[in-house]
Amino acid sequence: MATSQFTKKIPGTDGPEPALTPPDLDAAATAFLKKPKLGSGKTRKRDMPEGLWTKCPKCSELVFDKELDENLKVCPKCQHHFPIGARERINALVETCSFEEIDAGMLSVDILKFTGVASYASKLETYRKKSTQLKDAVITGIGKIGPHRAALGVMDFAFLGGSMGSVVGEKLTRLIEKATEAGLPLVIISTSGGARMYEGMFSLMQMAKTCAALAYHARAKLPYISVLTHPTTAGVMASYASVGDLIIAEPKAMIGFAGPRVIKDTTQAELPPGFQTAEFLTDRGLIDAIVPRLEMKEKLTDYISYMMAGK
Ligand SMILES: [Zn+2]
Repeated sequence: MATSQFTKKIPGTDGPEPALTPPDLDAAATAFLKKPKLGSGKTRKRDMPEGLWTKCPKCSELVFDKELDENLKVCPKCQHHFPIGARERINALVETCSFEEIDAGMLSVDILKFTGVASYASKLETYRKKSTQLKDAVITGIGKIGPHRAALGVMDFAFLGGSMGSVVGEKLTRLIEKATEAGLPLVIISTSGGARMYEGMFSLMQMAKTCAALAYHARAKLPYISVLTHPTTAGVMASYASVGDLIIAEPKAMIGFAGPRVIKDTTQAELPPGFQTAEFLTDRGLIDAIVPRLEMKEKLTDYISYMMAGK
């Protein structure tokens, strides 16, 4: 059989991955969303209706879903922080009815006509339906945290792994610009697998754009508090998430750029225990404080009071 010297190549099927390809957190996101299966004990299973209890992955205790919701998705037994949606977070942080969302209808477009296992367009469609009230991975707006009006941006990992595409970047940039114009403090709560690879360069550009807007906000001598939640990685960590005047994190959150496996393979070295956890990075000075979710509102109020004093 005659073989050609040149084999046909299908673009995008080989070669190195883009530097900022987020880790496969899509799978992690779906794993988060799925309720852990109830214990295999047959008698217990018969006694308990599905969907009322969640097994804590850390202490293995069964927690009543209602109790978990009331406790802002923090295990009442061991304080494990489960993932929480952006809307729930906002409701827990701002004064009732004080939040005015901005750019609520902004939608991502499939500018590159990107197709992998599934097309970007179909992914967007699926996630918009699945994450019922979300149009993209961030919600932005102005609300009152304690007595302070503040610009608030909250990311949601459930939408495409909290990846940062043009919409996430644009909504945050507009929020930052609004905060600068109105003389408001800024709080961004991040959770992300990184830049959205379906948008290629357009997503990477958001890193520079958000940071440029933050520089103007800083020039106006206004405070920016960055809150890192599990997980905050790659392009988001390498841009707006890591340039807060104050950087705080939820307990045990995974924070980093590349995943630990990639780092281990590259450096061929054993990684220290606790590597890439919020606690590890607090000890080394990258993060200023660890704040449990149930104390977040109170602490943010205190921090803003302190940082806005005299304004
Ligand atoms: Zn627990």
